[in-house]
Amino acid sequence: MGRSALLVIDMLNDFVHPNGALYAPSTREIITNIKKKIEEARGKGWLVIYICDSHRPDDNEFLIFPPHCIEGSWGAEVIDELKPKENDYIVKKRRYSGFFGTDLELLLRENKVEELHLTGCLTDICVLFTCADAYYRGFKIYISKGSTAALSFEDHEYALKLMKKAFGVEVED
Ligand code: ZN
Repeated sequence: MGRSALLVIDMLNDFVHPNGALYAPSTREIITNIKKKIEEARGKGWLVIYICDSHRPDDNEFLIFPPHCIEGSWGAEVIDELKPKENDYIVKKRRYSGFFGTDLELLLRENKVEELHLTGCLTDICVLFTCADAYYRGFKIYISKGSTAALSFEDHEYALKLMKKAFGVEVED
């Protein structure tokens, strides 16, 4: 049987800390749940992978969003509450999907991972597009509704519904 991986998407200062450049207040409410899931995943021997926005200062994404998560800056760091441990993995990305232009797929294949559990933010952007790319690659996907967040509840709910409908994800608590 294949292994499982917990993906912790964009729980970075610029999105989750009140002083962050693109602060989304609802992300505060999922920190405790994600912390619990990370501890459970480590206990079960799952891969724990932090998927982290990491932009160049002149990144094209800043034509759409204000500058955020510049590589090497405080804003691009994982929040203090969820700091990665030694055996966890970090995958840096420059686009919404954790698969685009990164070695995430190689890492998962090398470790015989077949099931992905998605957590983090934002439900309707980076989580959604990572989910789409995971589906195209044949992974079984679980998503925790209590460990993902968007800018509004409507955006959150809509993205969950879409991922269920289009990618067959299983929505968990
Ligand atoms: Zn970004």
